[in-house]
Amino acid sequence: MNALAVTGGRVLHPDGRVSEADVLIDADAGRIEAVGEDVTAGREIARTLDAEGGLVMPGLVNGHTHVSMTLLRGYADDKPLESWLREDIWPVEAELTDDDIAAGAELGILEMIRSGTTTFADMYFSMDRVAEVVERAGVRARLGRGVVAVGKEEAEARADLEGSLEFARTYDGAADGRIRTAFMPHSLTTVPENLLTEGIELAAEDDLWVHLHANETTDEVEPIVEKHGVRPLEYAADRGALGPDRFLAHGVHVDGTETELLAETDTSVIHCPASNMKLASGIAPVQRLREAGVTVGIGTDGAASNNDLDLFDELRDAAMVGKIGADDASAVPAAAVVEMATSDGADAIGLPGGRIETGAAADLIVVDLEAPHLTPAHDVVSHLAYAVRGSDVRHTVCDGTVLMRDREVTTLDAATVMDRAAEHAADLVARAEE
Ligand SMILES: [Zn+2]
Repeated sequence: MNALAVTGGRVLHPDGRVSEADVLIDADAGRIEAVGEDVTAGREIARTLDAEGGLVMPGLVNGHTHVSMTLLRGYADDKPLESWLREDIWPVEAELTDDDIAAGAELGILEMIRSGTTTFADMYFSMDRVAEVVERAGVRARLGRGVVAVGKEEAEARADLEGSLEFARTYDGAADGRIRTAFMPHSLTTVPENLLTEGIELAAEDDLWVHLHANETTDEVEPIVEKHGVRPLEYAADRGALGPDRFLAHGVHVDGTETELLAETDTSVIHCPASNMKLASGIAPVQRLREAGVTVGIGTDGAASNNDLDLFDELRDAAMVGKIGADDASAVPAAAVVEMATSDGADAIGLPGGRIETGAAADLIVVDLEAPHLTPAHDVVSHLAYAVRGSDVRHTVCDGTVLMRDREVTTLDAATVMDRAAEHAADLVARAEE
């Protein structure tokens, strides 16, 4: 066995317990072999990661993002979703080249590895280029090409749909299984009924997952209620868009009937608290969804509406806004957001990981707890929700491979990636403003 040992730290166990323990990893199999004291005794260890003064926990799962949008970070702020998309984001996105998308993906994935995210779900364009970066950077992802029909002729929208299905079929299982895919219609209002129904039927024939935005703003709810006389998620259910291998981003404006529908169909929701606050979309009923038995993960959404991909920010935001939303300080507690960002997130997007236990995927991070803002450590889980920052992550491991050691990313050259992304971003914006 090609053994990697993470030693000298404390471990966050799946039941929320924290204890001193080492973690033994089979690096070739990408699997956790053992967790406990003395698990390395008598073993030949090829490499060791020092976790002294730190917490070994599952790699974080960013359940919904558009990673290449890092190029648009800070380009347009302080506007509501509809005008932000139409006036700022879509005109720039129309100028995006494949090379821009690759440069943005490199930047976003670098940022995620640095801040403890090993796994993400991504919807964008030129996804073959994103997949190439995922493979090289060593992270795990569920990827899909977005289908948007707004402002397009039928033939062009249909080509989008076919491209999304084709990408999903071709890349599912790529990068030694680290890449899984999904058919990704953008949302219930940006893809017409016939294409949505047809695309989901075709995806189901090939057992492909489905991911879309849903109930993000009231502007996405009212047109469906007016046109079809049912709530958006009833409309989605009738078109096959709900089910155990489907997950929805946002779920902000979800009523009681829709909550039941999500639970009954075992459809997961990815909560994006920062994006929802920044675009004033509303407050997702996370406490109600969880109480109903819906699996809820956490996502950053794209960097242009966040504006970073540090998932620890999102844990804090989810806990805070969850309390405001429920008008109850005990709602969405620390342990809940930690679950949402780890095991529940992995389950929501159907990827392995999210747990430090024997047999689990070796996707883990070590958080340095020796810092003023993390002292004293009365309750480490509380710190993860309310005080830890992405910059506290010391090591990142995915699929048994060390992606960052002592804050140095090993699979991407940070300086080159940042230079290249800044250059592509400047050229892109210049073209769009011409
Ligand atoms: Zn999104």
